[in-house]
Order: sequence, then structure tokens, then C-alpha cells
Amino acid sequence: MTTTPFPPVPRPDAGPARHAPRRGRPRGVRRLVTFALVVGAAATLAAAAHVLARPDGVPAAVADPHPTLRPATGLDPELERRFDAARAAADADGVELTLTSGWRTAAEQQELVDAALERYGSAEEAHRWVLPPETSEHVAGLAIDVGPTDGALWLEQHGAAFGLCRTYANELWHFEAAVEPGGTCPPMHEDASHGWG
Ligand SMILES: [Zn+2]
Repeated sequence: MTTTPFPPVPRPDAGPARHAPRRGRPRGVRRLVTFALVVGAAATLAAAAHVLARPDGVPAAVADPHPTLRPATGLDPELERRFDAARAAADADGVELTLTSGWRTAAEQQELVDAALERYGSAEEAHRWVLPPETSEHVAGLAIDVGPTDGALWLEQHGAAFGLCRTYANELWHFEAAVEPGGTCPPMHEDASHGWG
């Protein structure tokens, strides 16, 4: 046991120390403020990343005016990965497989709806070929149109191995990630008319 020549240090909440500056609370407040700032910054970054990642978060004003020439940007990353794998396999088979249309903005999809109405002359027929922006899998980044015809036929035959399925009986070129790779593709829709309320 040791002894000390000095008196014990008074507890901050007892005796004379009661009137000492209370530094604990401001420091705690500062910590809270710092924590809030860090959390706030992280949330802002996460929100920004979310906007960048979401196809529908990109302003239509920067849209490519030629949707059929659009690269895969805006596609669901998993769909893009599956298509890249399928394209490589098609290439190994000596078959050209290209993306002719992928993600579209809502405005671009509406243009296609308007063009189809004009082309087919009746809403009933136009609705067989194009979906409204609200239900279009292209606007959601979840559909691709492929070409040329030989490539589309190759993908219909081999796509399920990559998790890619042709989903419309009247559209040779339209594929979605409708099954897990190696699974069995679901029956096709007859046409797009089911997607109109
Ligand atoms: Zn399509």
C-alpha cells in the first residue's frame, strides 16, 4: 500500500469542483453534431448514388434522341451482366448478337407509344406492340431488344442458360431476365396488350 502526500482529487460533482466549467456536455454536443454531420453526408451520398443508379432518376433532358442506338447504360446491372455473358457465348458460336435497344426514358417510351398509335391507326393494335411508360420493362431498365435476327434466334435457343427469356410471342427481339440462369423460361405473353390497364 502506498500513501500520497497530496489530498485526493475532488470529484467534479462535489465540493469546490461543482463550480468548475462543465466541459463534458459541450463536448458531448459536439460529438453529436459531428455524428449527425457524418450521417447526413453519408445519407446524401447514398441518395446521390441511388439517383445515379436508377434509370428513372436521370433527367429526360439529357436523353439520347436515338433510343435504338443507346448503349446499355441505364440497364439493370444483372441484366447487363447476363447479356454480356450471352453475347460472348454467341460470339464463340460465330453468331453476332447485339443490343438494339435497352433502357429508355419515360419520354422516349411515350414517343414510341405515340408513333405506334399513328402507325397502326388504332389503340387496340398499337397496344399489342408497345407498353405505356408506367409498365414498360424498358423504362425500368429490365428489358433488352437484340439483333440481328440470327442473334435473336440464337438467344431464344440459348438464353435460358444465361437467365434471359424472350417474353413476347410477337416480338422475336425482346428479352428479359425472367428466370434464374439455367432455369426454364416462363410462357410468353401473346403481345404487350396485357400491360394496358
Ligand atoms: Zn423490347
